[in-house]
Amino acid sequence: MTLTPADRLNAIEPILDEVYGPRQLNPDRDPVSTLVSTILSQNTSDTNTARSFRSLRNRFPTWNDVVGANPEDVIDAIRSGGLANRKGPRIQAALEEIEDRYGTFTLDNLATMPIDAARAELVSIDGVGPKTAACVLLFSMGLPAMPVDTHVHRVATRVGLIEPGATANAAHAKLESLIGDNADRVYRLHVEIIAHGRAVCQARRPRCEICPLRSHCEYATSREN
Ligand code: SF4
Repeated sequence: MTLTPADRLNAIEPILDEVYGPRQLNPDRDPVSTLVSTILSQNTSDTNTARSFRSLRNRFPTWNDVVGANPEDVIDAIRSGGLANRKGPRIQAALEEIEDRYGTFTLDNLATMPIDAARAELVSIDGVGPKTAACVLLFSMGLPAMPVDTHVHRVATRVGLIEPGATANAAHAKLESLIGDNADRVYRLHVEIIAHGRAVCQARRPRCEICPLRSHCEYATSREN
């Protein structure tokens, strides 16, 4: 019997909940902080992201301070997060654009918009892609947007939830349509799939032999047949 992506999702969800749950969505961080933090998180660990975010806020207590700073000083403040030469100017440009558009450093107005309109606003900010937009929508506004990072993309592809080679935009759209508009469910799956990608379905060598998702996974079953 051929399993659809929805069949596979429904089969793996209770297993992920049991192994990695419970997870509770708590959207209490301000959207601008989430946006900056997500830019800082590109290609680095959670620990380095938190460290570089703290360093940025300690050196520049307000977003206005960040925008007005010498670019070299911003780069220096976030150096511990890696790729600082790229991330520093991106953060300054995004903050400047937010202030130009909304008159202050806030994105709170987006929380009252329909999710598609809020997402369109976010991705139209220079340097904000679909993952960063989804992080702001989910983690700060409690809206059902699925951030697709490298772990989510890899696990979802191997299990058979999304097509191999799906672009970032296509992967976000496909997973969101599969999961539906319950933000708690989106959050649980997001966090649990990342945990699974780190612990078991690793990039170089997936540990299929010990994986509890194996019998529902396209990658694993295609190798057994
Ligand atoms: S069975 Fe293998 S490929 Fe599938 S999710 Fe588990 S570790 Fe990843």
